[in-house]
Amino acid sequence: MAIERTLTIIKPDAVAAGHIGDIIKLFEAQKFRIVAARLVNLSKKEAEGFYAVHRSKGFFESLTNFMSSGSALVMVLEAENAIKRLREVMGATNPANAAPGTIRKLYAASIESNAVHGSDAPETAAYEISYFFPGMNLI
Ligand code: ADP
Ligand code: MG
Repeated sequence: MAIERTLTIIKPDAVAAGHIGDIIKLFEAQKFRIVAARLVNLSKKEAEGFYAVHRSKGFFESLTNFMSSGSALVMVLEAENAIKRLREVMGATNPANAAPGTIRKLYAASIESNAVHGSDAPETAAYEISYFFPGMNLI
């Protein structure tokens, strides 16, 4: 299996609730290495650009308002099979369906305010890493 890089965001709900440390602890316990990090407060336009793939969805307006509502911690994580493994550690989009012990089961309040983002495929990881860390090596 290959070493990969993937993008995660600790979303504004989890930052506001004081869960940055809890979530990073889970990443480190699962042997993800943080190779880049930025604390951001996204503009509405930046949130729209990041989630452009969801532009046609009914929740797009609300999602991009939420994502630009406060501080968020954007990180690039590196590990064996990082893209798929991050999705497993995150849990299902809707915390009601997330498995026990996953970040969303532990810390998400709703399907929208769901604590973390994680890239869902190599192509999206490449786009998302470049979105926040232009010029960064993707591996
Ligand atoms: P994931 O973050 O698990 O990859 P999606 O890519 O489908 O999920 O959606 C992006 C984000 O949009 C979700 O993490 C969540 O914050 C929000 N979202 C998804 N579905 C809904 C919904 N039905 N209602 C409100 N917000 C949603
Ligand atoms: Mg997604």
